[in-house]
Amino acid sequence: MKRNELILKKYDYLIVGSGLFGAVFARQATDRGKRCLVIEKRNHIGGNLYCSNINGINVHVYGAHIFHTSNRTVWEYVNKYVEFNRFTNSPIANYKGEIYNLPFNMNTFSRMWGVITPEEAKKKIAEQRAAITHEPQNLEEQAISLVGYDIYAKLIKGYTEKQWGRDCKELPPFIIKRLPVRYTYDNNYFNDLYQGIPIGGYNVLVEALLEGCDVELGVDFNQHREKYENMADKVVYTGTIDSYYGYRFGKLEYRSLRFETEVLDIDNYQGVAVVNYTDRETPYTRIIEHKHFEFGTQPTTVITREYPADWQEGMEPYYPVNDGRNNQLYQKYAELAANEPKTIFGGRLAEYKYYDMDKVVESALAKSEQELG
Ligand code: FAD
Ligand code: UDP
Repeated sequence: MKRNELILKKYDYLIVGSGLFGAVFARQATDRGKRCLVIEKRNHIGGNLYCSNINGINVHVYGAHIFHTSNRTVWEYVNKYVEFNRFTNSPIANYKGEIYNLPFNMNTFSRMWGVITPEEAKKKIAEQRAAITHEPQNLEEQAISLVGYDIYAKLIKGYTEKQWGRDCKELPPFIIKRLPVRYTYDNNYFNDLYQGIPIGGYNVLVEALLEGCDVELGVDFNQHREKYENMADKVVYTGTIDSYYGYRFGKLEYRSLRFETEVLDIDNYQGVAVVNYTDRETPYTRIIEHKHFEFGTQPTTVITREYPADWQEGMEPYYPVNDGRNNQLYQKYAELAANEPKTIFGGRLAEYKYYDMDKVVESALAKSEQELG
């Protein structure tokens, strides 16, 4: 090795992206005495978990983030770095002024049909799903078969078509199976054993995970590849996989979002952290009132309207579109990735998976274990 190569190559790992995957990998590697450089194209760390602070309120800049998991190892892992509060997500749906509890449970069924007992609710849903006799092939069939036609029409169809920019018949069934359906009066949006929001916000968690690493902000790896690759023995890449390969097989599709944030001179705007607007006409999908994630008592409040958007280059790619065409294209990139000797791919963008945070932590722990032993 030449002398200047020796000077440049001062890290064991170059980690591209300071989101949860990159940060967990960095922590695991640093704890084993490895030197890590994290580069991040945004001007802050944390990826989509990042919070800004307005008037003492932690604002979820990239949309509502609630940590939930049934994996005890993951829960104990994140709790080592930050304490979590007792927040339980219980969003409500607003359909043209009618208010329903989510996820789909006895409160929803009762409000929709006037039913009182689980038996009455099951009977109603059985009647409404009678038309679906086969294994659901798309999101519409899956939704009707789970909760019947009325709930599909008022609480799912409009919201989903706004969110994904396509007809429910063209979307995969698994997206709607993320939501629990319960025949109990229980408004907890998740079934998981553990749930909460980090006390002090997500930045506390990410800062602790990145402690002891070097971090450079405002650097796009794909634009300065050679320089940064030469600085480390191995690369952990958490950006979009198609951009890593210069889109050589074509572009994967993503859904994007636009957030509009407002500070209001009142103490309580909507009485709950998340309200979904489930009609087709309201252009946003949800309004978040951030203070309620941490039971805030500040005199003012901050709300954010979340507008779905088609992804175009230059925008943030938030959601992979895991339909048949995109999954096939992803497989082609994944085959190349599997044969990369120096690069480890991980996270929502590099694995092209609709991962929640706990799954990202799980995957980063597994991959770092495999790599570092
Ligand atoms: P990211 O957070 O996207 O991090 C990747 C990082 O890499 C980014 O900071 C990006 O800027 C950077 N990067 C990309 N390319 C490059 C490059 N070329 N050079 C340098 N840097 C680069 N999960 C939950 O568990 N609960 C929730 O309530 C929840 N709500 C969500 C709400 C919304 C609106 C969205 C979009 C997601 C939500 N999630 C939720 C999912 C959660 O955001 C992800 O699981 C998690 O953030 C993924 O972490 P990551 O590290 O894989 O990706
Ligand atoms: N969904 C819906 N109505 C709602 C909430 C969710 O139809 O009021 C559907 C929608 O298709 C969404 C999916 O359920 O994409 C998963 O919802 P989740 O809240 O998990 O979405 P995320 O928080 O990941 O955006």
